Amino acid sequence: MTTKETIELFDKHVIANYGRLPRVIVKGEGCYLYDADGNKILDMFPGWAVSGIGHCHPRVVEALRRQAGELLHIDNTFYSEPQGRLAALLSERAFGGKCFFCNSGAEANEAALKLARLYTAEGKYRFITAEGSFHGRTFATVTATAQTKYHEGFLPLLPGFTYVPYNDVAALESAFSDEVAAVMVEPIQGEGGINVATAEYLRAIRQLCDRNGALMILDEVQTGIGRTGKWFAYQHFDVEPDIITMAKALGGGVAIGAMMAKTEIAAALVPGKHASTFGGNCLACAAGIAVIEAIEQDGLLENAAQMGAYAREKILELKHKHPVIDSVRGIGLMIGIQLTGPGKDIVDKCLDKGLRINCTNNTVLRFMPAMITDKSRIDQAIEILDGVLSESE
Ligand SMILES: *Cc1c(COP(=O)(O)O)cnc(C)c1O
Repeated sequence: MTTKETIELFDKHVIANYGRLPRVIVKGEGCYLYDADGNKILDMFPGWAVSGIGHCHPRVVEALRRQAGELLHIDNTFYSEPQGRLAALLSERAFGGKCFFCNSGAEANEAALKLARLYTAEGKYRFITAEGSFHGRTFATVTATAQTKYHEGFLPLLPGFTYVPYNDVAALESAFSDEVAAVMVEPIQGEGGINVATAEYLRAIRQLCDRNGALMILDEVQTGIGRTGKWFAYQHFDVEPDIITMAKALGGGVAIGAMMAKTEIAAALVPGKHASTFGGNCLACAAGIAVIEAIEQDGLLENAAQMGAYAREKILELKHKHPVIDSVRGIGLMIGIQLTGPGKDIVDKCLDKGLRINCTNNTVLRFMPAMITDKSRIDQAIEILDGVLSESE
């Protein structure tokens, strides 16, 4: 099919709830995408942080082929090896908790919120989340998302949510009460513009939760699975959450989500309280196992840390040349370039020159290359961005 034909199909039959670019992607390989018109694109935002180890990683593809030949899906009436093995791998790389599997980030957060209510019980119904957050699009998670643009058209939202400014300890303290079941934040706000939590803030959340019998939930849907140079972003800070949620990069391109809770908290989720038909699906879990093995065996955590530092250094060099760059934020390969104005045009021009990056929160360019990236790809991306910034000035 030609690009035009595919777009016509969408116009007729697919709900237009996304602002799509007029390109059809037909193939992905490592750090590159190929469109139906024969263009090759260097992808520095692969799959909106889903393809964390690059497109069609050979280990993931091989694991999927093998699992597909054995068992695609079995419902949770039974046990299945991939689900158990993936839970163990995740548990060993975090705080030793237990996992519940689902299919997306929103569902993982939804499960975390429900578990917090179940575990804390008795009159605790309030949740505190941070301004600029993004937690998903289901009713509970869009309510948790403290950005009014996501709320428009859906009022009234779920009761019980209070929003506080991110990284503001005093505001958090004054929002607390006995009725708080949990605080949920991202260790680095992704959609909100790559805002990194301070160690002081995360420690304060921990202390206030402990003091008030509330749970600390960290949404690691975008930060998790190695992106920051550690398995989970909280591991950069001296703090241990009660629950973490993950999704995006976990399946290497296959839909999967997971919530991990400390064992004693997880015990509150007894049969009948929560479930997901596809959750822990054999195929998705086989992909998850392959992702973790690839990261470990190919040294991708170290690579993410090193390439992240290299990219930030290169971007800081650009900042000297281009006054439109205000600052650079992030950890590892989760990088935000704060501009002094809107970034959409820059992103569009980069794509025309064969580079995909993203713009979030209007003025922040988001760079989240695959963890397999090397210096030459970063150099290539910086060169294109440099050219586009020069043209736009
Ligand atoms: C993407 C994202 C979500 C939502 O994940 P979906 O899979 O789209 O439901 C939740 N939290 C964070 C931090 C995210 O980046």
